[in-house]
Formats: sequence, C-alpha cells, structure tokens
Amino acid sequence: MINKEKLLLGAHTSTSGGVASAVNLADKLGFTAMQIFSKNNNRWAAKPFSEKEIYDFKTKLSASGIRFTVVHDSYLINLCASSSEILEKSRVAYIDELNRCEQLGIPYLNFHPGAHGGTGEKEGIKLIAESLNIAHEKTKGFKVSSMIEVTAGQGTALGYSFEQVREMIDLVGEKERVSVCIDTAHVFAAGYDIKSPEGYEKTIKEFDDIVGLDLLKCFHMNDSKKALGSRVDRHEHIGKGFIGKEGFRNIMNDKRLEHIPKILETPKGKEQLEDVENIKVLKSLIK
Ligand code: ZN
Ligand code: MN
Ligand code: MN
Repeated sequence: MINKEKLLLGAHTSTSGGVASAVNLADKLGFTAMQIFSKNNNRWAAKPFSEKEIYDFKTKLSASGIRFTVVHDSYLINLCASSSEILEKSRVAYIDELNRCEQLGIPYLNFHPGAHGGTGEKEGIKLIAESLNIAHEKTKGFKVSSMIEVTAGQGTALGYSFEQVREMIDLVGEKERVSVCIDTAHVFAAGYDIKSPEGYEKTIKEFDDIVGLDLLKCFHMNDSKKALGSRVDRHEHIGKGFIGKEGFRNIMNDKRLEHIPKILETPKGKEQLEDVENIKVLKSLIK
C-alpha cells in the first residue's frame, strides 16, 4: 500500500518576489516537494543572495511542510557547447548555481546535460563529464549533488538514453556528487514506453540495470503532448497527453518509487492552481 500522507509531491514554483516567496506559495498550495530557479533562468549572471534572503528562505522552509527542494539550472547553460565562449560561460554559470544551492542548503541541482551542436555524441558526453569534474573541483566539500535530467533527445540534446547517462556518470570523478532525475515526458518522447504495464516494468528494470535505482532522486511528472519516440519535448497536464492516466498509475503505485520526490512541470498560471489539480489527479490514481 502506498501511504498518501508521506508522498513527496509538488511542482516547479515561481520565485517571483524572491526565493522565500516560493516557499510561501508552495506551502500554501500544500506541496511537500518543490522545485525552483535560484535566479532568472534566461540570464547568465545573477545578483548574489543577501544574508537576509538566505535566512528568510531557510527559516520559512524549515517551518513549512516542504521536505524536498531542488533547483533547476538556467536554460542557457550548455555543458558541452561547441562554442568555447558559450562553454566557458556555461561552466562559470553552473558553478555559480552550485554555490547558490549550497548557500540555500538545497541538496540537488537538476540540469540538462547539454546539446553538442554537431560535434558528436561521444565528444559531447566527454565534455559534459569534464565540465562536471571542473565544477565539482571548484566546489570541493559541497553537499549539493549534480542531478542529471534524462532528456527527450530533441535536436542534438544528450542524455536521452540510460546508456548515455551511465557514460556520463562513469566519467565523473566524484561519484557521490551525481544523481539522476527522470522526466516522464522526456523518457516517453525518447522512446521508453512507460504507458503500458509491461513497457513500464521494462523501463524501470533497464534504468536499474544501467544507471541504478539508488541514483534516482527525483521524478519530473509531466504528460507528453507528443507521441512515444517523437524526440520532442512538450509538457502536458497529467492524463491529457500521450502517457495518459495509465502511465502515471504505473508510477504512483510503484512501491519501489514511493519515497522518490515527484515534481510537476506542467503548464500553469500565476496562482498555480493547475498544479493543485494535477496533484489531485496523481493522488486519485493510487489504488
Ligand atoms: Zn529540465
Ligand atoms: Mn523536466
Ligand atoms: Mn522538458
């Protein structure tokens, strides 16, 4: 039996008004898990946090019902960019993101591995691992883990197969600094059928054999506007896309994954009431 009370369930939450405001909103909406951007996700640089911002975030978080927090990195960062200028900017920005997580006491920085832009997959994977090794070296002793998000494989984006994720991890020196996030819309678009019970079992088994379930620290719960294997990344409300309620029923009733935080990244307005609806749908699928 799945214990509904203990689930770590929430959504990507707006930080408009500052990081502490996200805690207020997430808590008000009843989330037990939350994802945020630690800065404007479309800009390279960010103003450092003030002591007060850090204090407010931490005190509000510990007084809230939120028991899991993750930061999603900026969309500009590409840890295997083919342009050396963008690569350098990305590495600097990524290290800054690790710093910001550490300051806020957030244990995971979720990131998209990167898009090689034509240099090739092998070369791209090597470059991503090199970027991570540099970043971990520059943030020695930090607790924050680099969380590799499985991608849909759109364009030249890497990380669309469990084998690629494994290759990246194998090339990272500090293994205790890496973890993995499965985005349901991404794996589905990448060709993993999580909709049928058999396909779901096969996917989880493959993940466990190749990457290891012990490294899986988060789920992004998104239905997909695009079909299985389409390699196109478009998020849809739970039950309204190609994965459908069937697919999410598989996940929500999987005892092995009960403890893993589940975060929505589905379309939403300012008040995020859509998230509350999607959480209701997810909970209703539990047998
Ligand atoms: Zn993402
Ligand atoms: Mn995602
Ligand atoms: Mn996506």
